Amino acid sequence: MPSLSRRFAVLPALASALLLASCAAQAPAEDGFAKQAAQKLLPGQESPRISGSTGVLAQAAPDVPAVVAPAGPLRLHPRPEVDCDQAKCVALTFDDGPGRHTERLLDHLAAADTPATFYLLGQNAQKYPQTLRRMVVEGHQLGSHTHDHKALTSLSSSQITHEIDTAAAIIKDLSGIYPNTVRPPYGAHNTQVDALIDAPLVLWDVDTLDWKHRDPAKVASIAMKEVRDGSIILMHDIHESTVKAVPELVRQLKRQGYTPVTVDELFDGQDFNSSTAYTSRNQIR
Ligand SMILES: [Zn+2]
Repeated sequence: MPSLSRRFAVLPALASALLLASCAAQAPAEDGFAKQAAQKLLPGQESPRISGSTGVLAQAAPDVPAVVAPAGPLRLHPRPEVDCDQAKCVALTFDDGPGRHTERLLDHLAAADTPATFYLLGQNAQKYPQTLRRMVVEGHQLGSHTHDHKALTSLSSSQITHEIDTAAAIIKDLSGIYPNTVRPPYGAHNTQVDALIDAPLVLWDVDTLDWKHRDPAKVASIAMKEVRDGSIILMHDIHESTVKAVPELVRQLKRQGYTPVTVDELFDGQDFNSSTAYTSRNQIR
């Protein structure tokens, strides 16, 4: 099985290139986006060497000058560093997209200067490549929700691997970002699934049931009732009602002292291991 972790080494380099691209130039529409950005923005840069535990050796494609990535989680959109040991952090997560309402959601999140993590389906990512790029440029985290949303517990080992690898390759090709966490559809996982996923499995501890009631007020009220320090809130950006709920939900969270962060930020400084399922900053399942 291809290793997710092996590919992580190139991820920060591509992300940095994307950040620079967002500041300096419009993103080219065709694939090879990060590659072109790196070439445009870092002319003549030599292949870097990074030492110690604070960086990675970033090696992009052979004809692309690699770039040095900062240590720590990706923060493409400049926001103050958040220490979730001190702050009351919460991760907003959105599954099953992108969809036709996702751009509106990105507008809401940008207006509130609030990051989120998107658990994307490979098959939907293919339909909205520009939306993926916008997510990256605006500082959101991209995760994998498999290619076409089958319950992984019902599949063979090779089928599970196919679901994970296909989605990851599509997301990486379209956005330049390799999805470094996986959310299994329906939260369905077992020891076989866990062993085959070479990334942390990110579940949730707050289920808004947004897919069921389709009521913006309920999305916010359920989330606010159940949220705790370190929570991961589950929502779905394919529903218009959920997108409508987000501005008020973010207002209420901030009013109660919560700091919305990405999943990577939520687990920064914590054990966050491959083949392990997490329901919040403090809970493994
Ligand atoms: Zn789903």
